[in-house]
Amino acid sequence: MNIDGTCLCGQIKFEANVDPETTTICHCTDCQINSGTAFGYVVGAINDSFNLLKGELSFYIKLADSGAKRELAFCGKCGTRIYAKPENGKSGFFGLRVGTIRQRKGLHPKRQAWKKSCLDWVDCIETDQTFDTQPKIK
Ligand SMILES: [Zn+2]
Ligand SMILES: [Zn+2]
Repeated sequence: MNIDGTCLCGQIKFEANVDPETTTICHCTDCQINSGTAFGYVVGAINDSFNLLKGELSFYIKLADSGAKRELAFCGKCGTRIYAKPENGKSGFFGLRVGTIRQRKGLHPKRQAWKKSCLDWVDCIETDQTFDTQPKIK
C-alpha cells in the first residue's frame, strides 16, 4: 500500500510502501513515553521504502533493553515522530508512525506488542495477535 504523510508543522513530507498486515499497537514503556500517550501505533515500511520528499529529519538513537539500537526520526521543529528503525542500515522492522500517514483511516491494528505493560484501561482493542513482549516482526 502506497502512503504519504507529513509532520504537524508541514516541514517534513514523505512517502512509503507499507504492509497493512504489520500495523501494530505497541504498549512498551518506551512508546508510552516517546508518544506522550498510552501506546505507539506503527506500520512496517516494506524494504525500507521510506522516501523523504521534503524537509530535514532529526534523530535520537535509543538503546533498547535488548541491547539493540533504534534510530528514532522526528521533526526537529514540531517534534512529530516519523519512524523508528534499526540503526546504521541494519535490517529489521521499519516502523512508520501511523498517525502521520494521510491514509491512516485505512490502517487497522493487526497485532499488539508488549501487552504486559499495557495500561489497564486500554481494553477495547481487538487484534488477531497479542504478544506479552516483543513479537517476531518481519
Ligand atoms: Zn514538523
Ligand atoms: Zn514500543
